[in-house]
Amino acid sequence: MQRITCKFGGSSLADAACIRAAMDIVKKNPARRFIVPSAPGKRSANDKKITDLLYAWHNMARQGLDAAEPRKIIEERFNGLAHDLGVSFDVRSRLAEINERAAQDETPDYMASRGEYLNGRLIAEALDAVFIDPASCIRFKASGALDPETYTLLGAALAGDGLYVVPGFYGAMPDGSVRTFSRGGSDITGAIVARASKSDLYENWTDVSGFRMTDPRLVPEAKRIEEVTYRELRELSYMGATVLHDEAIFPVREPGIPIHILNTKAPESPGTRIVAQRQAATPVCGIAGRAGFTMFNIEKTLMNKEHGFGRKVLSVFEEHGVSWEHMPTGIDTISIIVRDDELRGKGDAIVEAIRRQLDADEISVTNGLAIIATVGQGMNHHIGVAARLTGAMAEADINLRVIDQGSSEMNIIIGVEENDLASAVRAIYEAFDDWE
Ligand code: ASP
Repeated sequence: MQRITCKFGGSSLADAACIRAAMDIVKKNPARRFIVPSAPGKRSANDKKITDLLYAWHNMARQGLDAAEPRKIIEERFNGLAHDLGVSFDVRSRLAEINERAAQDETPDYMASRGEYLNGRLIAEALDAVFIDPASCIRFKASGALDPETYTLLGAALAGDGLYVVPGFYGAMPDGSVRTFSRGGSDITGAIVARASKSDLYENWTDVSGFRMTDPRLVPEAKRIEEVTYRELRELSYMGATVLHDEAIFPVREPGIPIHILNTKAPESPGTRIVAQRQAATPVCGIAGRAGFTMFNIEKTLMNKEHGFGRKVLSVFEEHGVSWEHMPTGIDTISIIVRDDELRGKGDAIVEAIRRQLDADEISVTNGLAIIATVGQGMNHHIGVAARLTGAMAEADINLRVIDQGSSEMNIIIGVEENDLASAVRAIYEAFDDWE
């Protein structure tokens, strides 16, 4: 019998009607046996997410402020859910326990995890499923990395024939204290549960019908991607695709468990499948663009003859604790592209250090750069991808500041001015959307 892990995001569990719809999805297929819920999300655009309220509660309590307001909203929401779903679960006493911890705990992790915990309890009772607390089987090492022991512990906990609910977003440190993943981390829990339960499929239920070829805010008619490989998605998600947490593919990639992105509001729509190998080898499967990069351009005559020059440049970034994204080079030039949120105002100090340590002829800094990744595993069998892309830029009258094709031949990265981001993404989309 097939086994399926289903993760439901916060927007798919925002109120009792949504939770019932999610439960109907679970009941429709007996293979759906491992359920991973997020905390309830927003019911409308100006509503509050439970997780945000829990962080606010912890923050206020730590500062000695009265957190009655977030606490009240949380209590009302969970009480409402328990009532509407007809479960007996006692929200009030659980919240009293949380309240005691609020001012004591230095980190917000325990508090933040309670949204998933409480929602998991409610849903387990409503589904008559076994509740598994991730604090007892999802383990982090002291470094914060996932302890592989998790798969053994969780695998044993999920070994029966029944239906299980494992709340998303958290696990425990070696000393037993609760630790959360980064925001949106229930996607990672879903992948861990899929692997530990030896599921054949990881269904990730959200509020959109899969991935689009590019950001629909820039190209509203962007087509849905039917299938994308783990590697392609990695290239796209790292550029800021928001549907799935970018670390969620690691647990399932090795055993090759496909992820299926599906929409709770349109459960019949085919969604997007994330797989090891895809059938259709369309050269380009997605285009991800993002503003907010800075480029350091370093020039030194005969740089190419000087052993260790590149290493020394990169070590300046390392010393300043700044990760870099791309490094296009010329014979006497080297450019380092960095995300602004990574740079955090350290630009001047970096320039100064390069000047001092490398005796460069010239250093200039270009701000306001946008980077666009055009990604597709089929690219390496196709001649003319770069020509088509640069042709589209020329036709749209956009100046290319940087161009870089990864040696994997599955992505072409370009840099343009931020003002050109939207028109560049549109032009690339139009150049590739129906190219077979
Ligand atoms: N509730 C958590 C968050 O808001 C985790 C998740 O939803 O995946 O980030």
